[in-house]
Amino acid sequence: MNEEKPLVSMQSTLEMQPKLKASALNSLRAAISGVLFTPTDPGYDAARALWNGYIDRRPAVIVRCRTTQDAALAIRFAREHGLPLSIRSGGHNGAGLALADNGLVVDLSQMKQTIVDPQQRTVWAEPGLTLREFVAALEPFGLITTTGTCGGNGLGGATLGGGIGWLMGRYGMIIDNVLAFELVTADGQVRRASATEHPDLFWALRGGGGNFGVVTRIQYQLYPLGQVLAGMVVHALDKAGDPLRFFHDYSLNAPDVIGTMASMATPPQVGPAFVMMACYAGDDLGEGERMLAGFRQVGSPLADLIRPMAYSELLAMLDPVAPDGRNYYDTAYTLRQPVDAAFDALLECAAARTSPFSSIVLHPFQGAATRVAPDATAFALREPHFAIVHAAGWEAGSGEEHIAWADTSLARMAPYASHGLYVNFMGHEEEDEVRAAYRANYARLAAIKAKYDPENVLQLNQNIKPAAM
Ligand SMILES: Cc1cc2nc3c(=O)[nH]c(=O)nc-3n(C[C@H](O)[C@H](O)[C@H](O)COP(=O)(O)OP(=O)(O)OC[C@H]3O[C@@H](n4cnc5c(N)ncnc54)[C@H](O)[C@@H]3O)c2cc1C
Repeated sequence: MNEEKPLVSMQSTLEMQPKLKASALNSLRAAISGVLFTPTDPGYDAARALWNGYIDRRPAVIVRCRTTQDAALAIRFAREHGLPLSIRSGGHNGAGLALADNGLVVDLSQMKQTIVDPQQRTVWAEPGLTLREFVAALEPFGLITTTGTCGGNGLGGATLGGGIGWLMGRYGMIIDNVLAFELVTADGQVRRASATEHPDLFWALRGGGGNFGVVTRIQYQLYPLGQVLAGMVVHALDKAGDPLRFFHDYSLNAPDVIGTMASMATPPQVGPAFVMMACYAGDDLGEGERMLAGFRQVGSPLADLIRPMAYSELLAMLDPVAPDGRNYYDTAYTLRQPVDAAFDALLECAAARTSPFSSIVLHPFQGAATRVAPDATAFALREPHFAIVHAAGWEAGSGEEHIAWADTSLARMAPYASHGLYVNFMGHEEEDEVRAAYRANYARLAAIKAKYDPENVLQLNQNIKPAAM
């Protein structure tokens, strides 16, 4: 997924930088209520740092927005000055799509407001919230909606690509719970998209990623949630054959109140391990104990850390595994068939990892999320399946051997991969990969793109090309 090549030198990026007049920048700086960074401003390097420390891009301008109006001004400025434009919420896309080299970044990372309506069980939330912050804002109300599995991801990107996680079995994907968006389209207009306002845009935004506008506020449906019964069961990697097969079948057939994920990783003090995680999010923890009994008993676990906890605790569990600023290189695919040989190949790939920070992560797609029609939203991959990420991680150096592991292990799994992957696990992919992700929805998306962004201003994403008019 990550196409990042050797780092571009500072000298060469400065030479390539378009000549922006100081007066134009000063006018923009004065007009916005947020903060503007250029390469000579203090704070510029911190403002361009991403989750993936391997990415080193140098935008010409970073507009750190406070309001929707700031985002509109930023888009108009980028268009007037012919600058490539990127959108940043949490900065977690592994390929660094949030940063346009020599371009303008519409940075929403500090837009973190939430307005909860406990009676209607809805929230308006800004996209710069991390999932951790979003959940922390909802927890005092005893309310929740579907989120991704780890706390660091930005709400903006996680939502717009689709959003899979612990509660998708019960409540569907994140997009299945969106009621409305506020956004700035590529022409600089502020719009609302919902079932009744710009319904075409509303359909496209639910899974269409950053293609259709800069989203500045999102309204979600919420649900009551008390404690969950959740945590991990740890197996030695060399004894993971049976647990892995069990995990696959259990996850795809689990009751809606159960969500799962797993990783082949190297927890400190444990060594190479297969870590199975589960979350029971029903109303009766006793029922959860019964539903998870088999999950906890398969094989010979080294540790069983499943217990009642707050949902926020579960979300925090994965944060230490993928901290901000480490070097990452991710590849990903959809597992085609649960053929036995695929499991053996996966375990071989995991055993061949070259870094304790590298992992293979298994994300099941199950439950209510699979019962939404493939054409009900832009997200088309509605059948039960597994998305698998081979994530190389390392702390120092060029990372060549770790990148080679990710590429080689991806090639090893190619016979078991199907065409078409969840866009949030992609980088800046080729058109045929994006078409495969959207299947029959692509043509409709391309037509909507032609209506709202005919010049493809928003193209630093899993790009949908505007249909020829
Ligand atoms: C460690 C890790 C764990 C993950 N786990 C999960 C998981 O459990 N479930 C899941 O579904 N995904 C998961 N992901 C994928 C994650 O959802 C995507 O990387 C997502 O894009 C991150 O959102 P962000 O706002 O941080 O992204 P950013 O890097 O800020 O943005 C990425 C892209 O999203 C688009 N975008 C972001 N915000 C906006 C906006 N406000 N308006 C318009 N376009 C926007 C833009 O195209 C932008 O280039 C994981 C990723 C990582 C790195």
